[in-house]
Amino acid sequence: MEIIERSAAQIAREVNARTLSACDVTDAVLAHVEAVEGDVGSYVSVLHDQARAAAARVDERVKNGETLPLAGVPLAVKDNMCLVGTRTTAGSKILENWHAPYTATAVQRLLDAGCVPIGKANMDEFAMGSSCENSALGVTKNPYDLSRVPGGSSGGSAAAVAAFEAAIGMGSDTGGSIREPAAFCNLVGFKPTYGRISRYGLIAFASSLDQIGPLTRTVEDAALAYDAMAGKDPMDATSIDRAIEPTATTLRTDLTGVKIGIVKQFDTRELGDDIDHLYDKAYHDLQALGAELVDIELPTADYGLATYYLIAPAECSSNLARFDGVRYGMRVEGADVHEMYEKTRAAGFGPEVKRRILIGTYALSSGYYDAYYVRAQKARTLIARDFEAAFAQCDLIACPAASSPAFQFNAKSDPYSMYLMDYYTIPMSLAGLPALSVPCGWVTPAGGSSPMPMGLQLTAPLFKERELLSAAHAYENMTKHASAYRPSLERTPGGR
Ligand code: GLN
Repeated sequence: MEIIERSAAQIAREVNARTLSACDVTDAVLAHVEAVEGDVGSYVSVLHDQARAAAARVDERVKNGETLPLAGVPLAVKDNMCLVGTRTTAGSKILENWHAPYTATAVQRLLDAGCVPIGKANMDEFAMGSSCENSALGVTKNPYDLSRVPGGSSGGSAAAVAAFEAAIGMGSDTGGSIREPAAFCNLVGFKPTYGRISRYGLIAFASSLDQIGPLTRTVEDAALAYDAMAGKDPMDATSIDRAIEPTATTLRTDLTGVKIGIVKQFDTRELGDDIDHLYDKAYHDLQALGAELVDIELPTADYGLATYYLIAPAECSSNLARFDGVRYGMRVEGADVHEMYEKTRAAGFGPEVKRRILIGTYALSSGYYDAYYVRAQKARTLIARDFEAAFAQCDLIACPAASSPAFQFNAKSDPYSMYLMDYYTIPMSLAGLPALSVPCGWVTPAGGSSPMPMGLQLTAPLFKERELLSAAHAYENMTKHASAYRPSLERTPGGR
């Protein structure tokens, strides 16, 4: 297998054994990035020098006798995470030329574990979106069909890993931004329990929901990345001080004794015959692995979207107040300070970000606060309670990660149809639960020529990351859906 196609686990094994050097891996990946970036556009910045320097340091540490869990593994860092000295844009014009003064804890932990930062990955502006089309800094395409979106908001990280431009992509997930692009790009996308991974150095969108996690080509790689990133960080008061049980060493290959809940409210017949059959088959495969399927109810899950689209914009309107032309990034001069604020924000933010700020400011304004924001918080509690009740009957919940495969550019012209993409992922985010998407088969969309991947979402109770990854591993190991097709890049001019 070519170097660039190897999993993070394989690369680390070989670099630690010194049968392969981190420098050779990095050179191979950077050459490949050069060849395919024109087609895919995963990265906002490619970090040639930092990558080569980091690889040399990894080789040196290994030579000195250290064993690093992610030795030499090429990493794509979502561009809302700080890496000291590198441009960190959050996909926004307002931060187009802003350079991070320090490194995010999650990024630092991966670098300490041996990862090599290849580039900063494109994303929807401030992580608001489901297709990467809201980036102000470029277009990212789906490596499985270049006429389609990679998903979002972590679309650049997903495309990079799918196109072999990295083995681990870092994503952030507020309402689905790791799981949906993973589903669209044939990857594993894992959002841990809220608070498991430090948010220090992550540019905030909605602080009570934001969670960092990995996008990878295998479950084992997701587990390795999680093991390296998770754990209390004194720099993030919401990070959880709780023992981390290593997950990568305990992955199972069967589901004997595991009860899996199938959600009555998530009726896949509404998604069309092809997709319905695909999920039917996925649930049967879980059973074939030894799991017991039980019907469960999440009566308030349907309120997830409405709840999220009050809470997330409310938090974003407050978090994004800091981009005022004074402290960070772009400034457009005005006659006085108010005009300067206005002009800077008008020129710096894109239309979706402005929409969220308006909705959020409205929902928090006096007179409306109780009617919207407080009620949304109450609904959030009810949704979390539904999950608690469901988990009294089952160990994990299975459902789709997204309602369709990746769609074509400009297919979702009104904001609401884009918001609907996160219908299945938002309830878990509101409840803070760990959830992941794992490849579960392929469908050829009407009018499309390439089969496109779909994702199975598995959700676990709070802090049950180990059980979750274990089950996903058993499913991946039996079904092997991810390897059924390769990215269509090779067929395009300029591709490999
Ligand atoms: N698509 C959702 C939104 O736009 C979720 C984004 C995310 O998880 N960052 O808010």
